[in-house]
Amino acid sequence: MKTKKEVLEIIRLLKEEYPLAECTLDYDHAWQLLVSVRLAAQCTDARVNVVTEELFAKYPSVAALAAATPEEIEEIVRPCGLGHSKARDISLAMRMLMRDFGGKVPDDFDTLLTLPGVGRKSANLIMGDVFGKPAIVTDTHCIRLCNRMGIVKDLKEPKKVEMALWKVIPPQEGNDFCHRLVLHGRAVCTARSPKCEICCVKELCSSYRDAQKAAAKKKPEAKKKTAAASNAEQTV
Ligand code: SF4
Repeated sequence: MKTKKEVLEIIRLLKEEYPLAECTLDYDHAWQLLVSVRLAAQCTDARVNVVTEELFAKYPSVAALAAATPEEIEEIVRPCGLGHSKARDISLAMRMLMRDFGGKVPDDFDTLLTLPGVGRKSANLIMGDVFGKPAIVTDTHCIRLCNRMGIVKDLKEPKKVEMALWKVIPPQEGNDFCHRLVLHGRAVCTARSPKCEICCVKELCSSYRDAQKAAAKKKPEAKKKTAAASNAEQTV
């Protein structure tokens, strides 16, 4: 596990590497981010952005989208996958915003969780990006990178990772840190083949250090084998 000092250094290095820490989902209004983040489940942000361009053009307000039927929404959001359940959640959430919140997205984490299709990840994203409040978004990149770097240890469940990160990440840094993990996870620390040699945090990364140690252990073994082989040749 990393010390707080090491975590702060990782945060600093990532800031240097990725000065812009922005959400890669396109939106102008809070309700649009709410819709986009629901669509982003098991779908790329790039595809969501294409789909929402059409969706928001056709339904330009919470009231307009709440008035649409789930079938009409599904017709547009189908390319994001899981169209039926995503359209149902979006429709229910928009209707709830109209009925209970005056058409506005509530700026309270626990209240956000009461909206259909909104889990901790979405609620954190909205709290951080829309309302500028402390947030930790534990998506697939965040979970993979924090485990590899050693900021958390063997934690895969999003809520457990989130709780562990709250203990070591300064609250005001959490939101941007998670955005930077997404950028780093896409560009360098990819799921299948992390490019450790060009990684800005490799000196602090537990996974990299372990790999270095393992390689160093193997070297003397390899040398011994080469020496033994050469001895054998000379005796023959
Ligand atoms: S050193 Fe490798 S495993 Fe560690 S964060 Fe960088 S790319 Fe990922």
